[in-house]
Amino acid sequence: MPMRLLSFVYGGRKDYGISLDDEVVPSSELSRVLGKPLPPTLDELIGTPLVDEVVSLGSRAFERSIKLEEVEIIRPISNPPKIICLGRNYAEHAAETGSQLPSEPVIFMKPRTSLNDPFSDVLVPDDYTSEVDYEGEIAFVVKRGGRKLSEEEARASILGYLAFNDVTARDLQRRDKQWVRGKSLDGFAPIGPWIEVGVDFEELGIFTWVNGELRQRASSGEMIFKPWEILMVLSRGMTMEAGDLIATGTPAGVGAFSDPPRLLRHGDLVEVEIWNVGRIRNRIVFESLR
Ligand code: MG
Repeated sequence: MPMRLLSFVYGGRKDYGISLDDEVVPSSELSRVLGKPLPPTLDELIGTPLVDEVVSLGSRAFERSIKLEEVEIIRPISNPPKIICLGRNYAEHAAETGSQLPSEPVIFMKPRTSLNDPFSDVLVPDDYTSEVDYEGEIAFVVKRGGRKLSEEEARASILGYLAFNDVTARDLQRRDKQWVRGKSLDGFAPIGPWIEVGVDFEELGIFTWVNGELRQRASSGEMIFKPWEILMVLSRGMTMEAGDLIATGTPAGVGAFSDPPRLLRHGDLVEVEIWNVGRIRNRIVFESLR
């Protein structure tokens, strides 16, 4: 049964828990039901086998819950050991950038300081970049890592899925040849709104809207390297760790490669929805204009 792992603020205090339908069960109640203490953050919980115990609680009756609408949902994790992103993982997007289909995953990384909340502004240092773009993506969180993962191990290593906006400064990306600086500005990775656990990869897809206009639409079936294949290839030489966040690449329809280009402007509202998971919604705010 699908359920969500989420982090939130309630009563002025950061907490995490699970959400079923429109209820949130806070960590204190999960701890009471399990009869053992839980770590203080979802990042830390994911690093322990306790995450499986929490997920297995499923929809059992809880004594204490909070209405979902009463909490402020924040980024589910804020301290992943790694944030790995794929480029060109959809054929149509590779074509729009003028690239060949990759024979191996094309990867880069973003720093933890790029993470942002699911409904917060993306602040753009517009004295530093003038070509900001969106990339709606399906991301997943690693539950168990390791080296040289088999397909079975890789599949079992996926904790769940979430929406990811790989916000990109195209001018910096182009100037540097490689992508790190243009992908790494503070807040250029809104994620969430939660980690959906127990949903089938085949049932996922992406919608990206800018100011209500649909710009990207793709199903997970169009992805070239599937999540478990990404883990299998990467883990041949890099240890995957619990809590690693992997963004699986954007489909066609990003602004820079539209004709004419449609880059983001001050005040634009970008929404990324992963089907059967949820939607994040972030306003673009230029620092010189706020
Ligand atoms: Mg991307």
